[in-house]
Amino acid sequence: MNREILIIGGGPAGLECANSLISLGYKVFIVEKSAEPGGHLRKWDRLFPYGASASETLEKLLQQSNKALFFYETEVKSIKKSDGVFIATLSDETQLHVGSIVVATGFSLFPAAKKEEYGYGIYNGVITNADLEDAFKTGKKEFFKANRVGFVHCVGSRDEKVCNRHCSKVCCVTAVKQACEFKDLNPEAEVYCFYMDLRMFGRGYEDLYLKAQNKYGIRFIRGRVSEVAEDVDGCLVLKAEDTLTSRPLKVTLDLLVLMSGISKNPDNDEIALMLGIDTDEDGFLSLCEPNLNNNKTQVEGVFLTGSVTGPKTLPETLNEARAAALAVHKYLSR
Ligand SMILES: Cc1cc2nc3c(=O)[nH]c(=O)nc-3n(C[C@H](O)[C@H](O)[C@H](O)COP(=O)(O)OP(=O)(O)OC[C@H]3O[C@@H](n4cnc5c(N)ncnc54)[C@H](O)[C@@H]3O)c2cc1C
Ligand code: SF4
Repeated sequence: MNREILIIGGGPAGLECANSLISLGYKVFIVEKSAEPGGHLRKWDRLFPYGASASETLEKLLQQSNKALFFYETEVKSIKKSDGVFIATLSDETQLHVGSIVVATGFSLFPAAKKEEYGYGIYNGVITNADLEDAFKTGKKEFFKANRVGFVHCVGSRDEKVCNRHCSKVCCVTAVKQACEFKDLNPEAEVYCFYMDLRMFGRGYEDLYLKAQNKYGIRFIRGRVSEVAEDVDGCLVLKAEDTLTSRPLKVTLDLLVLMSGISKNPDNDEIALMLGIDTDEDGFLSLCEPNLNNNKTQVEGVFLTGSVTGPKTLPETLNEARAAALAVHKYLSR
């Protein structure tokens, strides 16, 4: 039995899958496209819903996975299968002979500039959720002087025009978390969230939403934003329709935060072609038995884990990663 496993992607899913495989006695290679492990978790500051530190969380994942052999700034160029063994050729020409492959290449944040009507990249006061996380993390103070702040939900999600019909799942609760954090830094600020519906599905999320209203006075407006412009004083003017009252709305703001959604990794088509698996209508990689097994593909020995198959929270990602390790173990012990 070949006890060597290739994991493609060293984000939370890849790291946690490696941890479990190592504790089951496997040798793990992780091929990571960027220069560092950790994926998107490296970019976040505090995690919803309880405010845990993202860097401490990542540190724990890394401590456990340091026995894996990492290839940074590397990609898989080709994969062949011969007598049940996968032969992977990497971009640095290294060849790995492995018994199984786990794809954990994650997601891409929706590029907010694609929604031109919101003015990202045009007006300085328009930023994304990822920019705001970076400001929380690095203590960039300029944003926190804003006294009128808006959060726009569903940017690039639930939107057929940009070919993303899916809900990104994490951005409602991220908006509420970030709105509360903003109020902690600037208690005088007026903060608005413009949403289509609020999807506060997880344990502790509803409590955060209630706290946002009752403790922080954040105002939730069920509204569809149609346009953002800048007035002569350099303030942002947001036009929306209040979908509860069917009335048009105009709000003047200093800062607008766009809740960019979880989109497919643009590498998915290439990865799918290389491995002989499919992508779904939103471009995520497809599972062959999604109800029974959220790791299995139609190719024996190839497994998927984490947000490469669709939006996931971190705990969901980590659970799936452990399940993928067990699926590999079952496959190789058959
Ligand atoms: C704004 C925002 C805030 C969030 N905040 C939270 C939160 O507070 N709490 C929470 O539970 N969840 C949060 N999430 C969700 C969380 O980020 C994801 O659950 C988690 O990052 C998914 O991990 P992953 O490993 O599947 O993907 P990723 O984090 O995307 O990692 C994928 C890894 O694969 C690598 N990779 C990509 N393509 C290739 C390739 N071709 N070859 C090799 N390597 C490749 C990438 O460089 C990356 O290191 C948030 C998401 C967003 C968008
Ligand atoms: S989680 Fe909320 S903001 Fe994100 S796409 Fe779904 S409904 Fe929209």
